[in-house]
Amino acid sequence: MVKYVYDFVEGDKSMKDLLGGKGANLAEMTNLGLPVPPGFTISTDACRAYLDAGAPPASLADEVTAALRRVEQTMGRTLGDATDPLLVSVRSGAKFSMPGMMETVLNVGLNDRSVAGLAAVSGNGRFAWDSYRRLIQMFGRTVLDLDGELFSEALEELKARRGVTADTDLTEEDLTGLVATYKDIVERATGSPFPQDPREQLDLATEAVFRSWNTERARVYRRRERIPDDLGTAVNVVAMVFGNMGETSGTGVCFTRDPSTGHSGVYGDYLPNAQGEDVVAGIRNTLTLADLEKLDKTSYDQLRAIMAKLETHYRDLCDIEFTIERGKLWMLQTRVGKRTPAAAFRVAIELADEGLITADEALTRVTGEQLTSLMFPQFDPEASKETLTRGTAASPGAAAGVIVFNNEQAEAAAKEGRRCVLVRRETNPDDLPGMVAAEGVLTARGGKTSHAAVVARGMGKTCVVGADALVINAAAGTVTVGERMLTAEDTISIDGQTGEVFLGAVPVVDSPVTTYLSHGLEAGLAAAGDDADTRELVTAVDRLLTRADEVRRLQVRANADTPNDSRNALAFGAEGIGLCRTEHMFLGARRQLVENAIVSEPGSAERQSAFDELERLQKQDYLEMLEVMDGKEMVVRLIDPPLHEFLPDLTKLEIRVAVDLATKGRADPDDLAMLVVARRLHEQNPMLGLRGVRLGIYMPGLNDLQVRALCEATAELAARGLHPKPEIMVPLVGSVRELRLLREKTEGIIAEVASRTGADLSAITVGAMIELPRAAVTADDLAAEADFFSFGTNDLTQTTWGFSRDDVESTFFNEYAEAGIFTVSPFESIDVDGVGELVRIAVEKARATKPGIKLGVCGEHGGDPDSVHFFHAVGLDYVSCSPFRVPVARLEAGRAAV
Ligand code: PEP
Ligand code: MG
Repeated sequence: MVKYVYDFVEGDKSMKDLLGGKGANLAEMTNLGLPVPPGFTISTDACRAYLDAGAPPASLADEVTAALRRVEQTMGRTLGDATDPLLVSVRSGAKFSMPGMMETVLNVGLNDRSVAGLAAVSGNGRFAWDSYRRLIQMFGRTVLDLDGELFSEALEELKARRGVTADTDLTEEDLTGLVATYKDIVERATGSPFPQDPREQLDLATEAVFRSWNTERARVYRRRERIPDDLGTAVNVVAMVFGNMGETSGTGVCFTRDPSTGHSGVYGDYLPNAQGEDVVAGIRNTLTLADLEKLDKTSYDQLRAIMAKLETHYRDLCDIEFTIERGKLWMLQTRVGKRTPAAAFRVAIELADEGLITADEALTRVTGEQLTSLMFPQFDPEASKETLTRGTAASPGAAAGVIVFNNEQAEAAAKEGRRCVLVRRETNPDDLPGMVAAEGVLTARGGKTSHAAVVARGMGKTCVVGADALVINAAAGTVTVGERMLTAEDTISIDGQTGEVFLGAVPVVDSPVTTYLSHGLEAGLAAAGDDADTRELVTAVDRLLTRADEVRRLQVRANADTPNDSRNALAFGAEGIGLCRTEHMFLGARRQLVENAIVSEPGSAERQSAFDELERLQKQDYLEMLEVMDGKEMVVRLIDPPLHEFLPDLTKLEIRVAVDLATKGRADPDDLAMLVVARRLHEQNPMLGLRGVRLGIYMPGLNDLQVRALCEATAELAARGLHPKPEIMVPLVGSVRELRLLREKTEGIIAEVASRTGADLSAITVGAMIELPRAAVTADDLAAEADFFSFGTNDLTQTTWGFSRDDVESTFFNEYAEAGIFTVSPFESIDVDGVGELVRIAVEKARATKPGIKLGVCGEHGGDPDSVHFFHAVGLDYVSCSPFRVPVARLEAGRAAV
């Protein structure tokens, strides 16, 4: 038979799955000999059984009876006894802390008879009646589902009638009357009187706590925190101790270190003559722990000793809830405390310095996500803000500037030294210059992997996408939200961490951590100035990252397409480039050349001259990039996007021709010629169409010119005494035959340039991207033709799930998340069971053919903390991510290795 109930002495801190965090820690403290009131925990198994069946499991009642009996024996009192009642609290406590999301009922066991007993033994009638009214209020709201306002209104009304403002000014008589009023409220609203049977109260409260696992706010919280929906909560039944028994009683919360800065030294709040809920509700101003020392030195000293003991025992910052009942200290809760990202770094380093944890453990105490949030400039938290709307936070940071709608406006603003925010319905590669010039990007459509989001993240530029309340009329130069219309002269601010859009310019503060990461420790410390906490933080980040670099096995590279991105990547610690997307080398002014090449006949002089010019320009690009990356590997990916992206938009072209025909009777012959080509190349599913390796086979000249330009740049730099290390990568390979064809041609060009220039180009490698399930499952064949593989997990996710990466996040992903199909988008964090499994299979097969084959990843997942751990575990050699995420990947690769 399943055991559902555990006395505190039966558990320990490792049993969070079963007992929840609170229950496991109460058990741990009990066994450490700390003053914990006696009690027991009803397990998460019982909760799950209750939620499945809609009723408690049959054996639960007997187990609760037995456990309650033991508490009663320890306390020498019986639940709800008329003369000297035992009262209990019924508290939720899931495996992962969900502060304030679930329910708690205090003072269970009070009724019309036991209230008198409590008044007699405590010698405090006011206290007894106050406890009773609190029970009815909490029970009414939580168990009986009544509107909490009904009770608070009655309380306010009473205070107004009595002419007092504080609850504590109400007399015993007032509270006796209030209990009658509350009982009336219950009876009127439910049709039954407030339950007088203490055991019935306990059972109903337990079930209500179980049910509170599924409240809307708990579900929303879990989704945000990526907590699975099927864990359930445990219920802790604890003998009540009272902080509201007069001036020698009180309640408090404390931390063994400052959870906001990580500063060592205790920190906490204390509220005399109060119960825990009063601290949370902020009814009265709290005192500090130093005040407690003055009020009750014995309890304070004992508390300090317990805090030290807990920190040494848990080897981490702990937070603690305690109550003092008439001079006696009781521990109600402890756990490893939540902390800000800054505190996490500082505490980890200080605990290591104090010898409480090892340097490797210190690394496990911080996360890439925390580092990310330390890196972004932020809006001044003190500043006042007016919210305009909200979208999806796509690339963190804080950007403020005048609204611009297109490249020209953005570049003009930048030239005049005015900050601007590019506002568009969505972005495409044409908007790149505007994105570069703008401080941030705001779109009305798209999700976290939309073009705007991916590109902005790559540039470390603030971006909010999918703010669908925005109605953008770029032609008219207006953007409307509801009633409000803004124009190009208006200033907005966007918060890439929260997705909020504010009116006006909210002041921004810089992050010294970023200054450190990009310019070194001295610069970071200088940026911190006189702020001692920030200096400590910068030092802690430096020490932990250094440790991560020492222990990690994964190499960390960057996805960078320009010399500038490459320099940023190097500054952030990138050890090479894992993906240089070369498509931008065909855009801008060069687009015309591509167009000329596409529309002209194969083998024609026009096509050749377009190719020659493109080759000349690309050689220049490669020279610059390889020079910046001297001595470090640089993966150059051959052109990938569908050819039609380089042609004019088909719909617009068709309309223009139709309008010309209708109005002038004839269309422009160039338009007509272009229309023929655009129609021929038009695709219904371009992402599954003429792109990647297919382009190289369909229109070989493009790849050839890229390879030749790269080889010549390599030869030229080598002749200058540099050490260029290019690696040529073929995208979207599905078959070994495709790869073989491409490889043979590529090797031919390498050999030709080598012999023409006399350079040794034998170190140039040729590899394939694994972006299709077919490539993954035939990786053993592909490996025979490849020097390296790089997993393109953006496309691999798209093709494995059959999800369009450009659309799904702004269409049905919300519903998917709500339905619990996934807690995080598979485009953001690797889907270990599906896409990850393909990666694992490919790694195994590739190494079976070619044990030394180099394996990396260059999809967005390369910079995602959880995914980095997976890539470490599956045995990749490197991850490659946006320059800005390089420090995060370094840290996570280190954490994965310890
Ligand atoms: C990928 O598909 O993961 C990849 C890196 O290529 P892109 O994002 O350019 O399609
Ligand atoms: Mg791809």
